[in-house]
Amino acid sequence: MIEKREFYIDGQWVAPQAARDYQVIDPATEDPCAVISLGDQADTDAAVAAAKAALPGWRATDPAERIAAVERIAKIYDERADEMAQAISLEMGAPIDLARRNQCGAGAYHIANFIDAAKEFDWVHPLGDGTPGAMISYEAVGVVGLITPWNWPMNQVTLKVIPAILAGCTMVLKPSEEAPLSSLLFAEIVDAAGLPKGVFNLVNGDGLGVGTQLSTHPDVEMISFTGSTRAGRAISKAAADTLKRVTLELGGKGANLVFADADDDAVARGVRHCFQNSGQSCNAPTRMLVERGAYDRAVEIARKTAEETQVASPREAGKHIGPVINKAQFDKIQGLIETGIAEGATLLAGGPGRPEHLNRGFYVRPTVFADCTPEMTIMNEEIFGPVLSIMPFDSEEQAVEVANATPYGLTNYVQSGDGARRNRLARALRSGMVEMNGQDRGKGAPFGGVGASGRAREGGRWGIEEFCDVKSISGWAE
Ligand code: NAD
Repeated sequence: MIEKREFYIDGQWVAPQAARDYQVIDPATEDPCAVISLGDQADTDAAVAAAKAALPGWRATDPAERIAAVERIAKIYDERADEMAQAISLEMGAPIDLARRNQCGAGAYHIANFIDAAKEFDWVHPLGDGTPGAMISYEAVGVVGLITPWNWPMNQVTLKVIPAILAGCTMVLKPSEEAPLSSLLFAEIVDAAGLPKGVFNLVNGDGLGVGTQLSTHPDVEMISFTGSTRAGRAISKAAADTLKRVTLELGGKGANLVFADADDDAVARGVRHCFQNSGQSCNAPTRMLVERGAYDRAVEIARKTAEETQVASPREAGKHIGPVINKAQFDKIQGLIETGIAEGATLLAGGPGRPEHLNRGFYVRPTVFADCTPEMTIMNEEIFGPVLSIMPFDSEEQAVEVANATPYGLTNYVQSGDGARRNRLARALRSGMVEMNGQDRGKGAPFGGVGASGRAREGGRWGIEEFCDVKSISGWAE
């Protein structure tokens, strides 16, 4: 059993002030795989105090010094990539190849993109032509609290820690108590990179404890949060009294609009995307809307793709999907599958229970429902499991109406050979991101949503701006 009870505060590994053990469960076996500590107010206070003490020095550094620090982190992150992939796979069940390539890989990708963005970043620049002496300066927000979920742990940790460092903020990271091992390793990486003590601190804990303590702390200027819409609301309320900046990356219920003129792989690609990471992605395309003329064929391809999707242990190499994170999520997904059946959707593949060959671990059968209607629960609630809901549409207008009929608005998807239509839909869909014809977002593009998906913009230049206050200056000597 891995024992990692210490926190990283003020440049050192320190014991928790009060013993509160928490077992991390391996979702593939349902057995404990590690023990950590849940911090309490004294631990949070110590970490915030360290960050506060480090702030004046760190925010005054030359940006080049901060970039150099992140370059050292990038190098060590790369050297320890395999350990990182193993930690992620163990704590949250991502199959090892996905953990290496996509999970750990996302961290490396974001770090590299942030370094590029920081090198281009114009920290102090003129307001514009015709306003002599007027300047705009980007300055570190201050001490920031970073609260992250378990589903893409290093993706989210790097999307917060790295821009905060680059902006000149100091910070306390509270990773998900469900998946803390990758963040503990990340703290070792930051430690080895030799940042001044107190710039980066990590305290493990749960939402009601350290999460709330950070959200209400008078010395924390900003909370950057990724997780459920429920917790996003709780944090916004908790942070209101101290008037913090709160940036939220929350859930989603992405629509994937497939037109009859889409490419041949569009449907299978959409199904695979929905199932990736066992369906545990906020931006998963979980509602597939298919133009009526292409519907029967799409349903057949979706059924076949789901049946071909293998479910197996995260320890095995390959392109299968692993378990979902925990019993609560497993039960929630099972309940929603039952609801889909009860509300009259056609079960095309999968269904309730574990796959036949697995009798332990939080494994869910890759499930596809067809003939869904917009009011069904499975078309509205975020399931966060490998469950796809398909419905036909008759016109572009109807497809947009259904796609937009959700409080969420993270990523929507369009599959069509008609460029004019794609461009029209890219503007009409209500979401922070629209991805079309299987093309990924560009390098350094901002990630974030609207409405109940939160309104943060993480990644690239926008991600650094989130951790800055904009100062307006006049009378600047030319
Ligand atoms: P969660 O909200 O339960 O937990 C996320 C983090 O918040 C954890 O660290 C948890 O300890 C903490 N937390 C929980 N309640 C809190 C509170 N009241 N105050 C302060 N902190 C609190 O979410 P989860 O189950 O870990 O993650 C899954 C959810 O995250 C899904 O809904 C998913 O869509 C969403 N998500 C969104 C994005 C995005 O970028 N939009 C990315 C990944 C996950």
